[in-house]
Amino acid sequence: MEYLNSESFAKEQDANDKLNKFRDYFEIPHINGEESIYFTGNSLGLLPKKGKNAINQELEDWGKLGVEGHFEAKNPWYSYHELFKPLLSQVVGAKESEVTALGGLTGNLHFLMVSFYRPSAKRFKILCEGKAFPSDQYALESQVKFHGLNPSEALIELHPRDGEQHLREEDILKAIEENSEEISLIMIGGVNYYTGQVMPMGKITRAGHKAGAIVGFDLAHAFGNIELKLNEWGVDFAAWCSYKYLNSGPGSVAGIFVHERHENNSELPRFAGWWGTPTDGRFKMEKGFKPALGSDGWQLSNAPVLSMAIHKVALEIHLQAGLENLRAKQKTLTGYLEFILKEISNNNESIRFEIITPKERGSQLSILTHGSGKPLFDLMTKKGVIADWREPNVIRVAPVPLYNSYRDVFRFGKIISESLIELN
Ligand SMILES: *Cc1c(COP(=O)(O)O)cnc(C)c1O
Repeated sequence: MEYLNSESFAKEQDANDKLNKFRDYFEIPHINGEESIYFTGNSLGLLPKKGKNAINQELEDWGKLGVEGHFEAKNPWYSYHELFKPLLSQVVGAKESEVTALGGLTGNLHFLMVSFYRPSAKRFKILCEGKAFPSDQYALESQVKFHGLNPSEALIELHPRDGEQHLREEDILKAIEENSEEISLIMIGGVNYYTGQVMPMGKITRAGHKAGAIVGFDLAHAFGNIELKLNEWGVDFAAWCSYKYLNSGPGSVAGIFVHERHENNSELPRFAGWWGTPTDGRFKMEKGFKPALGSDGWQLSNAPVLSMAIHKVALEIHLQAGLENLRAKQKTLTGYLEFILKEISNNNESIRFEIITPKERGSQLSILTHGSGKPLFDLMTKKGVIADWREPNVIRVAPVPLYNSYRDVFRFGKIISESLIELN
């Protein structure tokens, strides 16, 4: 597409955008009495207006029915989690038996590693990103210690080459091959939270399996952002949160994928709970845990219906917009932001920032600021931008195709230009 850094161009794009109406489905936060430029859907997505009704429905049923709501509510709570299978399976490219909505992301990663990180004397290492999200670092480190191992020996961290900002595919694949005798597990973010780099998940999975390792992904920044084909890629397991690109609310219910090849394996060790047993036997309260088939066997507790109510609405909106449509708009919208940022930095020698996100990306661009990054970020916030600052010097911005507009991107460019001039 030929882009132009002008308001009329942006407005024309919005007028022709078939996803334009979805902006109205969400509450847009205001700054200075005006709609903000909300580019933080990669951190906390916006409130879907229908979410309030969805929660109210459950509150009403609870009020009217009390415990009977488990079976008598409009959406019976007893089986509420089952409503997610057809929705989640589309978003992550999986079979329905492979996906379940449950728990929280970090907890789920732990529970999955209990099953899938089983180090032996010889094969005990975990290959991971060097600058993984802190929660993932802590999870990996503590899993390793839980097995009586030393993190500095057991964790192989992948770092970009000197002077480079992101990992090269060839370096990831080489590291897998070189350590093939010792890797037990590969655990990487599907999209790096800091740089926005999309990892070649299919290739990593293939290389990992060839090396004899189990392969899992943290999809926090991938879920609802990029195309996923977890079943086809053969990924062993994955986990995600629902409050970033999937707009399900702060700390809302998360989800997992377990590949069908593990579906019948009741030998896998796991930390079990009553909700992980087959539906028909759950209330028999019998001794001896027998897991339900597939990812359901990792459930522990009964469904957190209030957060699930929003998650369901948010997933339905996402799928109503259409995964293909979202991806097509993502390309042009983030492309437009890239175009504007490059134009600003090309036209002004005193400007010192660069985009460190590679071409393998979703919605997010990470802007590395040289010098006065934090004052720039703070001034932009005052002027109506809600973005995300990451120490030491990165501004992360994600124009989200579901509710951001081309005009948002144009206004962002205008604000960053003005702010740079004011700070000079
Ligand atoms: C957002 C995010 C988390 C957050 O974990 P919670 O358990 O949901 O608090 C973890 N890992 C990554 C990579 C993230 O981006």
